[in-house]
Amino acid sequence: MHTPAEALGAVRALACGARLLTALEQVGDAALVGGAVRDLLLGRPPRELDVVVAGDPEPLLAALGPGEARRHARFGTATLRTTDGCVYDVARARTESYARPGALPDVAWASIEQDLLRRDVTVNAMALDHLGTLTAVEGALEDLHGGVLRVLHDGSFRDDPTRLWRVARYAARLRFTVEPHTAALAAAADPSTVSGERLGAELRLALREPDPPAALRAAQALNPRLLPDGFEVRERAVREALALLPVGEGRADLVVLAACTAGMDVGTLLRWLDAMGFPAAERDLVAAASRFVTGAPLRAARSPSEVARAARGAPVEAIALAGGENARRWLHDLRHVQLEITGEDLLAAGVSPGPEIGERLRRALDRKLDDGEAGREAELRWALE
Ligand code: ATP
Repeated sequence: MHTPAEALGAVRALACGARLLTALEQVGDAALVGGAVRDLLLGRPPRELDVVVAGDPEPLLAALGPGEARRHARFGTATLRTTDGCVYDVARARTESYARPGALPDVAWASIEQDLLRRDVTVNAMALDHLGTLTAVEGALEDLHGGVLRVLHDGSFRDDPTRLWRVARYAARLRFTVEPHTAALAAAADPSTVSGERLGAELRLALREPDPPAALRAAQALNPRLLPDGFEVRERAVREALALLPVGEGRADLVVLAACTAGMDVGTLLRWLDAMGFPAAERDLVAAASRFVTGAPLRAARSPSEVARAARGAPVEAIALAGGENARRWLHDLRHVQLEITGEDLLAAGVSPGPEIGERLRRALDRKLDDGEAGREAELRWALE
């Protein structure tokens, strides 16, 4: 564990951090807060710089320099993107009350100490100012030291069930344990009081964690109602599929989801993805990939042309999930093979325009895949046979 002074030094060493400390010094009664403080004390680089300010956030935004601020008046928050690329999430210190379980909170402006009490877990309820003074809720440092996730009060998950997902992500990422009373509260919580779209947004963050299966498993363990019946965290399938996904191509998060939903009935899967707010294109990709995982023709293919016939047209995510040597060959080799001839050559050779052109080219390509490089002449011969 790092001391607050060491944490402050780490902030100063970041280009965007040094600027933040100067701005905090200018406005006073403002501090770095939340996950950034947690990560700095753990000796990890902060993922983002969240700032809390008691009172009007505008002087702080101005002190942080020119840029574009997106403001949300209701919560007194703003995201500032400075012209030189720093991003700061600035929030006015507030308390929150919930009219009913899962509702968006009503807010009242407050001090930084009071603001910490509205937060999700003790290790996120800490603030560090420009002098290195740490303000924290009771037990926060002990929990950070012990690697423990603990909600601040018994109504926490009832007020905001999205915190279930937050705790699951932290448990997986930080390898922290959930304190038993918090675990009991989580198990008793009812996630259905928040909209599917809000839960879907949390699920998407879990799918983008460094270890998504661990986050999904943690969510299932916390509260099985976070995920639908038939959802199974298939860690091995995820690992193998991600290893096959070509670098820089395809959506790793959707591969994870497809691997874990392969056992679900397709109607149930589509309805659930709709309810979670997945756009149609993503929903259809997950459904297609999760069905392909059980498709045998690719695995059974015995020649390059059979591999091509089984794989052609399927998204890379689906092929990666199907797995095996044929999937690897298709993704890394066979799908890049191209003919030297084109439809123009076939037209010039007297083939009439229409679908026949495509069929003949495909036949020539299959032959090329099986026989290897043979040159234009051979390709044309195969296409005209
Ligand atoms: P990460 O490490 O995943 O980026 P973070 O801890 O920085 O997460 P953010 O979502 O950026 O979390 O939120 C910043 C801080 O705001 C959190 O650390 C937490 O203190 C507080 N917070 C965010 N969402 C909630 C919530 N739903 N309920 C209570 N507190 C929250």
